[in-house]
Amino acid sequence: MLTQRRRILVTGGAGFLGSHLCERLLARGDDVICLDNFYTGTKDNVLYLMDNPRFELMRHDVTFPLYIEVDEIFNLACPASPIHYQHDPVQTTKTSVHGAINMLGLAKRLGAKILQASTSEVYGDPSVHPQTEDYWGNVNPIGPRACYDEGKRCAETLFFDYHRQHALPVKVVRIFNTFGPRMHPNDGRVVSNFIVAALENRPISIYGDGGQTRSFCYVDDLIEAMLRMMDGPADLIGPLNIGNPQETAIGSLAETIKAMTGSSSTISYAPLPTDDPLQRCPDISRARTHLKWQPEVDLETGLARTIDYFRGRLAT
Ligand code: NAD
Ligand code: UDP
Repeated sequence: MLTQRRRILVTGGAGFLGSHLCERLLARGDDVICLDNFYTGTKDNVLYLMDNPRFELMRHDVTFPLYIEVDEIFNLACPASPIHYQHDPVQTTKTSVHGAINMLGLAKRLGAKILQASTSEVYGDPSVHPQTEDYWGNVNPIGPRACYDEGKRCAETLFFDYHRQHALPVKVVRIFNTFGPRMHPNDGRVVSNFIVAALENRPISIYGDGGQTRSFCYVDDLIEAMLRMMDGPADLIGPLNIGNPQETAIGSLAETIKAMTGSSSTISYAPLPTDDPLQRCPDISRARTHLKWQPEVDLETGLARTIDYFRGRLAT
């Protein structure tokens, strides 16, 4: 239980995950400063929070220093969809690396606890399956995904160095593919692409032969784990895998979404993008043990909620 109200900064707060996090923090009684440069996020994602006097929206780019007073920081700012993070790769690396330095600098000045939203992409195209946190990964440092993967890896390095060098209280979670309401229809990630195509009865485009796998976590489960991590004991630093270990082939995801939407879409095939990982599934033993957490929402339940969301959104 909370003993006092905290003021919490959420960078990337107007994005998909950030907006859900802001909502949960407000609901439990915290003051929230939502910071975003609206690169992939929108004000619409947090519009319904604007009337709350404990909510503040700030336009700012994390690649520039920030001087405000807060108790805790969730660092989520960074485009997460491959098409968006590859659109301006230099800015993506700057956001991860300069953004981490600026937010860690802010945390250090304030003595504030800071959590980094890292990613399963630090494992690259993994040769260990499922991925455990002690696997160091298989990332191409010069490929088109490197701006994101290496940016996030360097951010993790910075978090651990600030912890060792400055005794800063840090937390690092490695998020696996997460989906749910408030993903942007043009986000470009697989779940939103497939649902929007299915609802519009357009071809569902599978990259490669559809045999590559991902493990999809519903957004509410993910946010619960992030909150438990932040509130966990000081020596629980991570990195901790957060995701749903239910592994799904992309071809099978397309069939499931087509059936669930009753769509007449055909399924088409396009080339697999460079360095697209062939398999990804989290080992969440550490999260189960240390956070007493495991995903509660299965893929079909999460998809049903997300389909409902997109149906409503496309109707307007
Ligand atoms: P998103 O693109 O919806 O949200 C990212 C937000 O960061 C957007 O609102 C964007 O405008 C903002 N942003 C980008 N660059 C910024 C900058 N320089 N300064 C300030 N704001 C900036 O993506 P998301 O899915 O909500 O992801 C949030 C975080 O979680 C990201 O750091 C991402 O790497 C991480 N993550 C997400 C997933 C996932 O499946 N959703 C998986 C792994 C990691
Ligand atoms: N993908 C696909 N069709 C799409 C979008 C993505 O087949 O319209 C594939 C993509 O090549 C990858 C998987 O789905 O193998 C997940 O892609 P996403 O961009 O969602 O996330 P990431 O590759 O970063 O895990």
